[in-house]
Amino acid sequence: MTTAFFEYARQCVPEEFVLEQEPMAKHTTFRVGGAADCFITVQNEEQLAKLLVYITKVELPYFILGNGSNLLVGDKGYQGIVLHLAEDFAKISVEGTRITVGAGALLSQTAKMAKEASLTGMEFASGIPGTIGGALVMNAGAYDGEMKQIVRSVRVMDQNGEVLEFDNETMEFGYRTSAIKNRPYIVLDAVLELAEGDKTSITAKMEELAVQRREKQPLEFPSAGSTFKRPEGYFAGKLIMDAGMRGYRIGGAQVSEKHCGFIVNRGDATAADIAELIVEVQERVKARFDVKLEPEVITLGDF
Ligand SMILES: Cc1cc2nc3c(=O)[nH]c(=O)nc-3n(C[C@H](O)[C@H](O)[C@H](O)COP(=O)(O)OP(=O)(O)OC[C@H]3O[C@@H](n4cnc5c(N)ncnc54)[C@H](O)[C@@H]3O)c2cc1C
Repeated sequence: MTTAFFEYARQCVPEEFVLEQEPMAKHTTFRVGGAADCFITVQNEEQLAKLLVYITKVELPYFILGNGSNLLVGDKGYQGIVLHLAEDFAKISVEGTRITVGAGALLSQTAKMAKEASLTGMEFASGIPGTIGGALVMNAGAYDGEMKQIVRSVRVMDQNGEVLEFDNETMEFGYRTSAIKNRPYIVLDAVLELAEGDKTSITAKMEELAVQRREKQPLEFPSAGSTFKRPEGYFAGKLIMDAGMRGYRIGGAQVSEKHCGFIVNRGDATAADIAELIVEVQERVKARFDVKLEPEVITLGDF
C-alpha cells in the first residue's frame, strides 16, 4: 500500500481508524487470516465517498467487510484496503411497519428492534451472525425466511461515490446471491418492510429457532456457518456425512462432528488447513456422488 494513500486516508477519517497490518483473524468468525495492508473503520457516507473516489482513481484493491461471518482470509493476508462500515452505518430506526437500517448494523440487533416494536417477519434472521450489508449481498436466510421477503429498498454507493437506490426486484435476490454480489456496489442502508405482530409470539419464535441452532449447529467452535451451498436436490451436510467425512481433520480444520455442513476451527487451524479441507471434501463428494459442492464461504487474500 502506498504512503500517499495512508496520508490521504488519514485526512478523510480520524487517524485512529486507519490501521496498518491489521490481523484479519480478529475480524472473521473463523478466527483465521493474516494481516490486511490497510484497515479503515469508515464512520459515514461522506468519508466513504472520499475514500472510494481516490481508491478508484489510483486503482487500489479494496474489500468491504461486514461481520466477517462468511469469510475466509488467507494466512498471508490481503494486499489491499479493508473498509469496515461503523457508527452512522450501524443506525436502526423504526417507523410504523418499516425499519430503516444501516449496512453495518447486526441482523441480531435489527431483529431485536423489530421484536421490541412488535413487528414480525425478521425472526428467521435473529440468529444469523452477519450485518445487514453482508446479509443483503448474500440474501441470507434460514428456516424458510430470507432477506428477499422483507426488503423494500436498498441504497448503495458506486465506485465513484454516487448513491443509487434499488428496489426489491432490482436486487435480483437468489439463493445466497443478489445483483450486488461480485458487483462494485456498497450497501449503505436498507428499508425493511415487516408486519404488525404479537411480541410474545415473536419472542417465542426467536427462542425456538435459537434452540434449534444450538442443538444442530457447532456454535462452540469458530466457523463461517454452512461452508457449502445447498446443491439442487441434495443437502451438503448429508452428502459429506455419507462420504464418510464426519470429523475428518486437516491440521486444525475439521468437518464438524455435530453438523457435517460446517467446517470448524478446532483452535489452531490455519486458513490453508480450512482451504485444503474444502477441496478434499469437494473431491470426495464428487468422486462418491458425482455432485459438485460450491463453497458458500467467500475467500480473500493470499493463501
Ligand atoms: C455460526 C454461523 C451461522 C450462520 N448461519 C447462517 C444462516 O442461517 N443463514 C445464512 O444465510 N448465513 C449464515 N451464516 C453465514 C453469514 O452469517 C451470512 O452469510 C451473513 O449474511 C454474512 O454477513 P457478514 O456481515 O458477516 O458479511 P461478511 O462475511 O463480512 O461479507 C460477506 C460478503 O458481503 C460483502 N459485504 C459485506 N457488507 C457489505 C456492504 N455494506 N456492501 C457491499 N458488500 C458487503 C463482503 O464484501 C463479502 O463479499 C452463518 C455464519 C455463522 C458463523
